[in-house]
Amino acid sequence: MENIFQFRNRFFDELPADPDERTVPRQVYNSCYSKVNPTQVRSPCLISFSSSIATSLGLDSTVIESSEFAQVFAGNKLLQGMTPYAMCYGGHQFGHWAGQLGDGRAINLGEVVDIYGNNQTLQLKGAGLTPYSRTADGLAVLRSSVREFLCSEAMYHLGVPTTRALSLVTTGEKVLRDMFYDGHPEYEPGAIVCRVAPSFIRFGNFQIFAARKDFDNLKRLIDFCIRYDFPHLISNEKEISREIYEKWFIEICDRTMRLMIEWTRVGFVHGVMNTDNMSILGLTIDYGPYGWLEGYDPYWTPNTTDTEGRRYAFGNQPQIAQWNLYQLANAIAPVIGRTEGLEAALSQYSENYNKESKEMFARKLGLDRYQAENDELLFESLFELLVASEIDMTIFFRLLSKISSQSDYTSEQFFALVADAFYDIDTDKYPPDSYRNSPINESIFNQTVSWLKKYQARLEQQSVSDADRTKKMNLTNPKYVLRNYMAQVAIDKASEGDTSEVEILMKLIEKPYDEQPEFEKYFAKRPEWARQKAGCSMLSCSS
Ligand code: AMP
Ligand code: MG
Repeated sequence: MENIFQFRNRFFDELPADPDERTVPRQVYNSCYSKVNPTQVRSPCLISFSSSIATSLGLDSTVIESSEFAQVFAGNKLLQGMTPYAMCYGGHQFGHWAGQLGDGRAINLGEVVDIYGNNQTLQLKGAGLTPYSRTADGLAVLRSSVREFLCSEAMYHLGVPTTRALSLVTTGEKVLRDMFYDGHPEYEPGAIVCRVAPSFIRFGNFQIFAARKDFDNLKRLIDFCIRYDFPHLISNEKEISREIYEKWFIEICDRTMRLMIEWTRVGFVHGVMNTDNMSILGLTIDYGPYGWLEGYDPYWTPNTTDTEGRRYAFGNQPQIAQWNLYQLANAIAPVIGRTEGLEAALSQYSENYNKESKEMFARKLGLDRYQAENDELLFESLFELLVASEIDMTIFFRLLSKISSQSDYTSEQFFALVADAFYDIDTDKYPPDSYRNSPINESIFNQTVSWLKKYQARLEQQSVSDADRTKKMNLTNPKYVLRNYMAQVAIDKASEGDTSEVEILMKLIEKPYDEQPEFEKYFAKRPEWARQKAGCSMLSCSS
């Protein structure tokens, strides 16, 4: 295993290191990172790995299944060329500047080049104390690690930009957690995920230097980031010009906007969009109390810490991303020396988001393109319908592809097309004739049918065949997402030593747009028991 990776550690080699090598919690000035070794753990055991990211890193199964692999990815053994370090960053948490945060439990091992020629940083999450751990323990528990592991890979296969997860190991250590901060801490199994991304730089990495008026290091980090993560923006010039800095910010706004479009498309709620959890590359990063919309609800957040303000609820995410971009603009402005370009990029963000989100929903509906004169009202009434009753977002959009643009449906037949997406239906009253008497009241029934009629009329106007439209819609409306309860079932089993459900879900999420008849049971509404269950719809930051 010794020579499986060729490390080239540009972040480590080229940026200023903290001269103090002690692990004690402290403020770290004038440095991009601190050197720190992962903590030794008792008995590493590989629980699962992602074969797709393993393959891209050139790892074969004999390497992965060796006991040495578990040792390395639990942090017990360093391979030649690894230079472990924790990054220094700050951030705005829930709208307030929180000062220095940093990698409190993440340790970067080094950078490698994958088989496609892309740079990838390997990072352990939960590998022990760093100078940034503040009052916490630097560890992660199995529950949150399974969630991060599964969701990173689910997002990747859905086509959503994300950090990846190579491996999930348990450490053999017990970790104390008060899951709901209610004075009932319990020991949970410790675990470590190896995350993989071209870069783990966050908005907060720039903010910390700006907050401390350390403009030299701010510039060094910006230049580093542009040279290595945005190389297409520069040719070989020594000095990076103002125009290039501005182009860089425009691209960050664009990537972030696209990420928000993608989260909206698949119904993902991050849960903690603090600026330290915003990737400079526009990747989904830091899977904590995230969740997936089941009933479509713009005000929904899985994060119990945010139930009061709902700052990070589903429908707020695009706006919050823009707020975060404002903070980044403020941080980098001193290096650029003017703000007009940054301001223009920020207002362009809203314009672009509005335009792109309409196109995205048009794709979800199988429309060739968004036509304001026809579609403004169609969309408005769609969103009114989606919140009028509890309607499963994933199932609703997936079922829409089945509508024929020609058929003469009765009202009952129209409703039956999407009936499986409604939570309130009294299933005993199936078949559809009796919907009118079911808990779906007459007004919801009528609203649904009336919208479907308008939708069908709109489909009739385009020249696309039903078969082509269905095909396209099924590539944009996933059949399977990692529903909140599904990950929890896998966690409950894994905590008892049975990892079969993790493996099943890893298979399922690899092809979220395919029918996969063997997994049909996962194309179903959230079971009632999961409605208010911890881990399924309610999560805290305790992980
Ligand atoms: P989060 O909102 O989970 O992304 O974390 C915010 C900050 O808290 C980051 O600086 C994390 O590194 C740090 N943090 C979270 N959990 C722990 C932990 N168990 N030990 C040390 N630091 C942590
Ligand atoms: Mg974080």
